[in-house]
Amino acid sequence: MSDLYARESRSVSKMAHLRFFPQAVVGGSGAYLTGDDGRQLLDFAASWGAVSLGHSHPAVREAVNRALSDQAGASYLSTANESCVLLAEKLLSLVPERARGRVWFGHSGSDANETVARMVVAATGRPRILAFSGAYHGGTVGSMAVSGHPAQQGARAEGLTLVPYPNSYAAGSPEAAKDTALAHLERLFATEVPPEEVAAFFIEPIQSDGGMLVPPDGYFKAVEGLCRKHGILLVSDEVKVGLGRSGRFNAFEHSGIEPDIVVFGKGLGGGLPISAVVGPEAIMNHAVAFSLQTVHGNPVCAAAALAVLRAIEHDHLVENAERTGTVLRKALDRLAARQTLIGNVRGRGLALGVELVTDRVSREPAARQTALTVYRAFQLGLVLYYVGVRSNVLEFTPPLTLTESQAQEGVAILDQALADVAAARVDESLLAAFAGW
Ligand SMILES: *Cc1c(COP(=O)(O)O)cnc(C)c1O
Repeated sequence: MSDLYARESRSVSKMAHLRFFPQAVVGGSGAYLTGDDGRQLLDFAASWGAVSLGHSHPAVREAVNRALSDQAGASYLSTANESCVLLAEKLLSLVPERARGRVWFGHSGSDANETVARMVVAATGRPRILAFSGAYHGGTVGSMAVSGHPAQQGARAEGLTLVPYPNSYAAGSPEAAKDTALAHLERLFATEVPPEEVAAFFIEPIQSDGGMLVPPDGYFKAVEGLCRKHGILLVSDEVKVGLGRSGRFNAFEHSGIEPDIVVFGKGLGGGLPISAVVGPEAIMNHAVAFSLQTVHGNPVCAAAALAVLRAIEHDHLVENAERTGTVLRKALDRLAARQTLIGNVRGRGLALGVELVTDRVSREPAARQTALTVYRAFQLGLVLYYVGVRSNVLEFTPPLTLTESQAQEGVAILDQALADVAAARVDESLLAAFAGW
């Protein structure tokens, strides 16, 4: 364990920790982090996708430098600033027509989803909200209240109903997963959840923290139809998988749907804290002074976000996510043919998941092996974390700038890590201080 990691434990609280191994870094460039021991670590997590362009991206650095050299305040609460206006105009051009109204800015996916949850109820007068079991919409009281992830230590909202996310692997086929999930929803609408009382349905176009679940074809199209029929607002939480990561600019585009409200976060600031909600004018302007924190609309963070969106466009990063994601996916598929711990490889673009099982027939989750695998990969020079309601899905959210050779390099390390875990060459006591989630 490095000195920096040990020192941290004597000064920094653990309450925000979600640790998988003793990682301590002092810098980074592109897809690599620099460990405090001088090691170069290939970063397949990118701080849960937040470092969307990779570390120290020149465009973000330049935008931040410029914004701080002539600083237009620190907030949009009581003044307009140019970066926020430019960013809002840009975001409006990137969502479907029905969402093209106004933009609200926050710091995080959590405050954005919390704001949406309060806003849809206040603006429509309908008391209920739908979301998915396993959904992670944030870590504040109000965003946990509309989430369904079992690792969260917070109460759910009184008006919340959780519905199952279709899981093609667990159900045996996409069709079975889709039919079961839709039947559940229709039964709810016919019984305990009167649809005319539902303000909004929060969806993750790919359920990332719940296990990187890709929805079956046609599922969200049917959900959209039900929402339209009953006047329910469809909210797409694009926080982790949006902004190009899935191989389309918006991840909901894969399902051919048009949400009413789109939530952006994580990668939007390229590593700086900023989030955005985009939605219809009547909803977004239903009140003033409704959801605000002092440095919301920070012009430095907004400038970083503008640079991120421009780089995604100019450097064709959506296409890169698709192309490099395919290379990564194929390499993982080849790994699955050799490594029996791998039960399923799934995802889209550079949002990929590998589910580890102890037995391919029973599909028993291999949670302990998953924790050991990410630990071993870290020892070998690769950073990746795991997700899933049963803690057994390796998550791949590398920078959108990842190259094909970096994709291959990471898979080679993972190959070794899996082999070491399968052969019981990794000391289990290493996990004692790393509960993960
Ligand atoms: C991470 C995440 C959030 C919360 O974002 P924070 O920046 O952690 O507040 C919300 N929704 C999804 C889908 C996420 O992955």
